[in-house]
Amino acid sequence: MGLIVQKFGGTSVGSVERILNVAQCVKEEKERGNNVVVVVSAMGKTTDHLVSLAKEISANASKREMDMLLTTGEQTTIALLAMALKEKGLEAISYTGWQAGILTEPVHSNARITKIQTAKLEKQLTDGKVVIVAGFQGVTESGEITTLGRGGSDTTAVALAAALGADRCDIYTDVTGVFTTDPRYVKSARKLMDISYDEMLELANLGAGVLHPRAVEFAKNYNVKLEVRSSMEKIEGTVIKGEATLEQNLVVRGVAFEDQITRVTILGLTNSLTSLSTIFTTLAQHHINVDIIIQSKTESDTTNLSFSIKTDDLNETLGVMENNKSLLGYDRIEAENGLAKVSIVGSGMISNPGVAAKMFEVLAQSEIEIKMVSTSEIKVSAVVEDQQMVKAVETLHDAFELAEDHR
Ligand code: ADP
Ligand code: ASP
Ligand code: MG
Repeated sequence: MGLIVQKFGGTSVGSVERILNVAQCVKEEKERGNNVVVVVSAMGKTTDHLVSLAKEISANASKREMDMLLTTGEQTTIALLAMALKEKGLEAISYTGWQAGILTEPVHSNARITKIQTAKLEKQLTDGKVVIVAGFQGVTESGEITTLGRGGSDTTAVALAAALGADRCDIYTDVTGVFTTDPRYVKSARKLMDISYDEMLELANLGAGVLHPRAVEFAKNYNVKLEVRSSMEKIEGTVIKGEATLEQNLVVRGVAFEDQITRVTILGLTNSLTSLSTIFTTLAQHHINVDIIIQSKTESDTTNLSFSIKTDDLNETLGVMENNKSLLGYDRIEAENGLAKVSIVGSGMISNPGVAAKMFEVLAQSEIEIKMVSTSEIKVSAVVEDQQMVKAVETLHDAFELAEDHR
């Protein structure tokens, strides 16, 4: 008997009707002779709604209480799905993250899973039950409830698949697979038959919200067979695996993007040797992720430093810098909001020079100003004004011929 982990996202469990549809999908997998673990998200826009309720009460709610609040969303869905499965004649039991033994590091709002205690789940599976686990949540060694970051239910599913040695992890969602770019923004986006872990990891890290980056990381590290597919249409999805099918002459596999980016510039650093490490160590201690970094010497022999962050982290970043001003020794700070990052990804880039040049050329032809750039072996990212983000994505999608199948 095989073991399949199925994960259903917010839209896929967004109403009673959808939950009944999920129950049917689980039943069909059971009827194929497999044991099933189901991971679910909060219903529809529940998490967003809970976030806005909190904001109405406090602009500075503690991350611990936010976790306490947000985990209720998933708890609703697991109970309703257990009831739906029982109505369909299946034995099922629901667990919150902490009941399911999902242990995390002691960090609120964006914790990493450190261990999964599987004995209880395995016992229930052996007894023939469908095990339902709340996505996106875990517990610390000291019993504090944590969450895994927005979109983190994918990670719960893949981590469970790895820990339980599942045969496959199916991510059921509101699109039919992984596309060359977000099909909600670009109509000519094309569904990929398969994609490598490395390319998917880059796309996810660069803003392609279809999979949580840590889910892809787990899948890669533990070699979990992962498929993204539709919860509404019974058609093949996209397989994420070690080596994807090559597409002739196709160097770029996808375009990812994210808005809400801010560029912070620290002007007049007097001691760049020590202040550079102090700045980034201090920001890391506050769990502020810094992305692109640019350093330049000025004529007066001081240093200017620019880096990009998520706009949400701006206030905290400015606070941290202000508190350490004398230690860091800088003149002043500037921040530019309203930016976005657009990235092209493809493992073929390693052996094809000129991809970045082509990207800059086509963006220039479309009169899109590039504010910052970063590259790795398999991606090139450009920071642009957020009003130009979708135009930049469309331009790149066209220029790299992503709408056409090159197999
Ligand atoms: P779920 O609630 O099922 O987890 P998400 O909203 O988190 O669903 O992820 C699915 C969404 O990801 C799609 O509706 C789509 O808009 C977005 N998306 C972004 N990039 C891509 C991509 N490259 N391929 C497919 N979907 C993408
Ligand atoms: N409900 C959480 C969110 O909306 C987790 C998830 O859906 O994956 O981010
Ligand atoms: Mg998601």
